[in-house]
Amino acid sequence: VHHASDGGGRAWLELAQGETGEVEASSSGRWKLVYEAGELGLAKGGALYFQVSPFFEWSTPQVEREDAPGFTRVSTDADGVELEARTLDQQLLGIEIAGRALRAGERIRIEYGAGPAGSRSDPYAETNSRLWFAVDGDGDGVRKVLADSPGVDVLPGEPALAVATLTSTARAGDTVRFTIALLDDRANAVGPCEATVELEGLGNGLELPQKIELAPSERGRRTVEGRATADGVYRLDVRVTLDGRTLETRTNPLSVGGGPRIWWGDLHGHSSYSDGSGTPQAWFDYARNVAALDLAALTDHDHWGLVFLDENPHLWAELVGAARAANEPGRFLALPGFEWTSWIYGHRHVVYFGEDAPLLSSMDERFDTPQELRDGLRALAALSIPHHPAGGPMATDWRIAPDLAVEPVVEICSAHGSSEALDSPRVLHSPRPGHFGRDALKKGYKLGFVGSGDGHDGHAGLAWKGPHYPTGGLVAVLADELTPASVLNAFRHRRVYATSGPRILLRFAVGRARMGEVLPAAEAAGDSTMFVQVVAQSPLETIEVIVGDEILSLECRNELEYSASATLSALKPGEFVYLRVLQLDGGMAWSSPVFVE
Ligand SMILES: [Zn+2]
Ligand SMILES: [Zn+2]
Repeated sequence: VHHASDGGGRAWLELAQGETGEVEASSSGRWKLVYEAGELGLAKGGALYFQVSPFFEWSTPQVEREDAPGFTRVSTDADGVELEARTLDQQLLGIEIAGRALRAGERIRIEYGAGPAGSRSDPYAETNSRLWFAVDGDGDGVRKVLADSPGVDVLPGEPALAVATLTSTARAGDTVRFTIALLDDRANAVGPCEATVELEGLGNGLELPQKIELAPSERGRRTVEGRATADGVYRLDVRVTLDGRTLETRTNPLSVGGGPRIWWGDLHGHSSYSDGSGTPQAWFDYARNVAALDLAALTDHDHWGLVFLDENPHLWAELVGAARAANEPGRFLALPGFEWTSWIYGHRHVVYFGEDAPLLSSMDERFDTPQELRDGLRALAALSIPHHPAGGPMATDWRIAPDLAVEPVVEICSAHGSSEALDSPRVLHSPRPGHFGRDALKKGYKLGFVGSGDGHDGHAGLAWKGPHYPTGGLVAVLADELTPASVLNAFRHRRVYATSGPRILLRFAVGRARMGEVLPAAEAAGDSTMFVQVVAQSPLETIEVIVGDEILSLECRNELEYSASATLSALKPGEFVYLRVLQLDGGMAWSSPVFVE
């Protein structure tokens, strides 16, 4: 229970003439902060807390070693007040009030990074990275965060990496898009820079500008439109020239011809509204304009971070508002969502496709079991998606069967690694056998497979490009149009598949059943023709066909494209078949399964 004096007062950053408080990502700075006591002051035995983001790599504020990073000097002009400062936890400094009470209007000065090593900022560019203050006014050990704690801007570094993205699928005559984005070495979108972008591989059925000049105001990214005029698979070599340097890259493949349309999405990410970096607006901007995604959902935690969403309805309303503002019908589907962060049953992210978007918290006794969550979602256009089911940081309790109307898919790859199966490359940390996606299929659950980022670095769709995460995750959605109804329908029919980040194109069918569909047992009893087509982003290492417990390898090493038919015999009811694709560069993809019933 909060005392009236908890959370009182205000704090600000003190800037000398010409100072901005800005710092480049992963570099040192020094900040002078002032706290001024509110009307009720702070009792003797009360405390002021200073906390930088505990989720990344800000130096922990400390008062012990002047020559070490994070050294913090704490002082006051209030006569008779003594300050007893000590580091209480990662990134958290407690300053206890002794001598006498700190009265209204009296101030405490905090110099963070006061020693020669300064204080190190986190590696992710963001505006308003918060330097949090909290106040325990009466000294009972309960503190309250100052909602308007000051923040500083963390700036990106120099361009180090170019990402070039093409539309993945088109018919001859369609408009296609090409997006160039320059990133620093931590995958932050860069600031103003001038660059020339040249495309190689045009003509012969693909029309796009051959040369693009980037002006400083474009901040290293631009999307241009062109046209596909003939069937085929296209990849463009891209050369970016800036300051006399060149950055080279290659686009993902564009497949022009028949076949379903593929839309790329990242439906799982975190911003500074829970334990991630950056604003919701910046997250959607990165998703659309840097990662060139077609759809994205920002899913901050219901009850995790420094200020909880479920205790602050206005913050949830702001998140929903940010998704609505970023949405552009037919072009970019921005969806509101949150992460139901149950430490008992496993995490699920909830994504809304309709108007109604309530926050159903895992801490709310009405919604604190998976069954209750689903009951709350069933009447809505919503999905609940279990993620990192196999473990680190939290495994899914598969004893509770998924309700396929609300939970048709499982996220098997993200920044945490693979949860597909123990024999998968790049398994996530602390795996729990029996909890993988394949284990859920063996229980008879007819789940499709998706990937999504679960990035906390603000880099929607591209978590895998930075040094922090071993893998990323994307979902490929096979839908005719990019509308909420069409995309939700594709999920409900498991017309989706997973990748670890690259835009690998997959087609897969067994008999009449395409990926995600059910093959009647009567048809599967004899010989079934399996059709496999893979258009990779970089050369292939293996394509594996998973039939229950058996793994068949298809010969494809060093190929960019693979297409074949094969015969599967005597598939049994309850069995499932899916593809696992591995590129030589470590990129992975998994089809959704075909289920035998
Ligand atoms: Zn989670
Ligand atoms: Zn998450």
